[in-house]
Amino acid sequence: MSRRPGFPARMPGSAAAPVATRPPQPAPQPQAPRGHGLDSQAVRQRMVHKLAAQGVADARVLEAMGQVERHRFVDSALVNQAYEDTSLPIGLGQTISKPNVVARMVELLLGGQAEADGRLGRVLEIGTGCGYQAAVLARVAREVYSIERLRGLHEKARENLRHFRLSNVHLLFGDGMLGYPKGAPYAGIIAAAGGEAIPATWVEQLAVGGRIVAPMLTATGQQALVVLERTPREVKQTVLEAVHFVPLKSGIA
Ligand code: SAH
Repeated sequence: MSRRPGFPARMPGSAAAPVATRPPQPAPQPQAPRGHGLDSQAVRQRMVHKLAAQGVADARVLEAMGQVERHRFVDSALVNQAYEDTSLPIGLGQTISKPNVVARMVELLLGGQAEADGRLGRVLEIGTGCGYQAAVLARVAREVYSIERLRGLHEKARENLRHFRLSNVHLLFGDGMLGYPKGAPYAGIIAAAGGEAIPATWVEQLAVGGRIVAPMLTATGQQALVVLERTPREVKQTVLEAVHFVPLKSGIA
């Protein structure tokens, strides 16, 4: 059965719902989700409570994380780990980021401009991977352009996302180091792979008032999360916590 998820979807997220009154810790062991949204909804809600306890505060992000069925993006052997706070292999040596890293980065991205409806405008994602984060972004932004340099993963993401029928997600096969000029300017650019610097093309394709959220190697040789904000006068860079992302590579394969 493949039913289109309602948008904006109703979640049992109000304070009166029983699931919301449960203390976040200790978390019960997640059960293996059985494939369809309703089976895994409670498990996802537990993940959302944990994210909130870890400091994710933006209601739009928590709602999106509660809606997207992460178990549809991982291999069947890993399904029972889909809602644990862990990164998981998605093939070709790449990984799907931990839920709290996805939530944290999307929250930082939303810290920038938002349209009147509380959504971001056009967003560019570098590194589609399995497509999970693209599905989360689709719920907080008007349009999502997502680029992947590995053909195998680009096709896997297309397959994974088919079920969700997200008409505002545009999957592109190519080198994300070059950005995607046709969709520019972007209200936000988010990267799931880290290089030695933020490519100048991303800054050029960023709207004034927009933000780039990406991992980057810092002077000490460690990877950290970086936020670039473009104001009318300057580009402001903030270096945040240490992270561990796969390398940003040029070219396609
Ligand atoms: N957001 C993804 C995370 C995938 S891991 C998810 O939810 O699954 C990061 C991805 O970035 C990998 O698939 C890797 O192939 C890709 N990548 C690395 N360098 C890239 C580049 N220059 N252009 C596009 N994708 C790139």
